[in-house]
Amino acid sequence: MFRRRKSGGGEAPGLVAVGEPGALVLDGVGKRYRHGVTALAPVDLTVPRGRFLAVMGPSGSGKSTLLQCAAGLDRPSTGAVRIGGVDLGSLSEAALTRLRRERVGFVFQAHNLVPSLSVLENVSLPLLLAGVDDAEAARRALAAVGLGGRAADRPTELSGGQQQRVAIARALVTSPEVVFADEPTGALDPVTAQDVLALLRQAVDGDGHTVVMVTHDPSAAAWTDEALFLTGGTVVERLLAPGAAQVHAVMRSLGRAAA
Ligand code: ADP
Repeated sequence: MFRRRKSGGGEAPGLVAVGEPGALVLDGVGKRYRHGVTALAPVDLTVPRGRFLAVMGPSGSGKSTLLQCAAGLDRPSTGAVRIGGVDLGSLSEAALTRLRRERVGFVFQAHNLVPSLSVLENVSLPLLLAGVDDAEAARRALAAVGLGGRAADRPTELSGGQQQRVAIARALVTSPEVVFADEPTGALDPVTAQDVLALLRQAVDGDGHTVVMVTHDPSAAAWTDEALFLTGGTVVERLLAPGAAQVHAVMRSLGRAAA
């Protein structure tokens, strides 16, 4: 599903299925900042529906840049991003905002729940912003993360892990094309982190969601179907069905190479 961009193109036909129904497609996506900093070298990536992908790499390797461009939070300098077949570059700012609201889910390290709203209202928020009044869908999403009984509580009445589960329910409630998770377990203890990862895994296996997760944690990557490793803005390694020890070894070798 992933291929490195070769200078001059010339990919052999058949290596990449043309028209493959990727939930997320990056076609030569690169990002260069002023003063000549290349945060991301052109990356080609197809994330099929129902895939759980980890994006890994040392600090400054371009993980956030990849996520921001892929999620339509930042515009790439080169290339095209497609979510559910829609070319983000063709959208106005207003249409891009709408697409992010309706077809993309976000889970951050800090859950960003609105403290003055109830748990159920927090989960309902993306639906309301999309103009959909469907309290039942929000209740189902909350029940799916095991918190159906806490609908009326305020976020502060929940533990950190429970709050992150609410954030996952909120990310999934619109049935987005892709869920982007940026270090979703970064602020959690290891046991709670495993619960949150199990939920993301369940969202992929049980409901066919597509999740792209930035993480630096090999044990988190071990829950995914595939791990991509970035160094200096370039994808340098890819592991299918990654094991924690394997991921750890790659991270160590990248760290040594960068030193
Ligand atoms: P990571 O998420 O892996 O830590 P980033 O994507 O944040 O890496 O950064 C990749 C590179 O791009 C780094 O060298 C960083 O300093 C640079 N960078 C990120 N954002 C900006 C910006 N707004 N302006 C200039 N350089 C940036």
